[in-house]
Amino acid sequence: MLPSPPAREGQLGFLYLPPYRVQGISVAGEQTCIQIPELDIAFDIGQCTRAVLSSPTIALTHAHMDHVGGLPYWFSQRYFQKIGGETHMPDSARDGRPKIPVGRCVCHPELEPHLKALMRAWEPLERQRTPFEIVALPPEESLEIKNNVFLRAIATRHTVPSIGYAVLERRSKLREEFRDLPQEKLRELRTQGVEITRQLDIPLVAYTGDTAPGEFLVRDEFAEAKILIAECTFFEPDHGDRAKTGMHMHIDDIVRLLPIWKAESIVLVHASRRTTIHYARERIEALCGSHADRIHLLMDHRTNRARYERQLAAVQATNTAKSASSVETHSDADTNETVV
Ligand SMILES: [Zn+2]
Ligand SMILES: [Zn+2]
Repeated sequence: MLPSPPAREGQLGFLYLPPYRVQGISVAGEQTCIQIPELDIAFDIGQCTRAVLSSPTIALTHAHMDHVGGLPYWFSQRYFQKIGGETHMPDSARDGRPKIPVGRCVCHPELEPHLKALMRAWEPLERQRTPFEIVALPPEESLEIKNNVFLRAIATRHTVPSIGYAVLERRSKLREEFRDLPQEKLRELRTQGVEITRQLDIPLVAYTGDTAPGEFLVRDEFAEAKILIAECTFFEPDHGDRAKTGMHMHIDDIVRLLPIWKAESIVLVHASRRTTIHYARERIEALCGSHADRIHLLMDHRTNRARYERQLAAVQATNTAKSASSVETHSDADTNETVV
């Protein structure tokens, strides 16, 4: 008898929720890393996947090992593989060293000194300095991650200091009172220095991170987000107490929030390894009623693959229809030419 080969390592979950991809891995206590490439952001980095190396910013929700373990490796690989631009000035570049490609990690202010110490602890071990940028983002404050796209920290409640995040698009909107004015009048007002627009923050994606349920989860950033990524560790009816002890969410908590969360897509992450995806899906169907359709499980590879194949088929069907109609237009043009 030959020994069997090792189990295959975790496959990345993937959902295309237009216009965003949500991809990564999330299993409670093991690892969580969720990337949205279109927004140049990844949330948490329990382990550093190859895919997440392309993300210029990691937003940490808290420092449990399954959410932060991959951070030093991520900084190191980005440096080693010369990934990223020179957009961020790393701490270690401030003492006159040249700018080097580096990543940026955003975290709760209480984590900042410890994460910096963690990175510096590698220097004597490796006999080299890996550049890094670690930025504290206090709850309620925001940071620009892309043009007009901001990351806002929101206080959450976990067994250690924790924050959730909302990614907001900042738009300026014409003020109500000027809505019916003609263009030239608006231009005139603007030259007179009148503020004719107001700033509007549209929540695109929100991520709860590990948290106990709380009033913060009904804030606009969560209620209005187009895509909501929510921790849901427990699905079993008798696991309510475990959820409370670990300050995690249970599917019953999610059910209570569903009428408030308007998101087109709700992505549940961080299910416990003991819960099978099949069972989690069953519980969602049983408890969430008409909301079940908009709930996805990041790690439900089979359902998500089938969904992606339907999306592909729909695009192919549209393309075929388009090229058929363009052939018709062409033959019309040909006919006209013959007439001329
Ligand atoms: Zn966790
Ligand atoms: Zn945790």
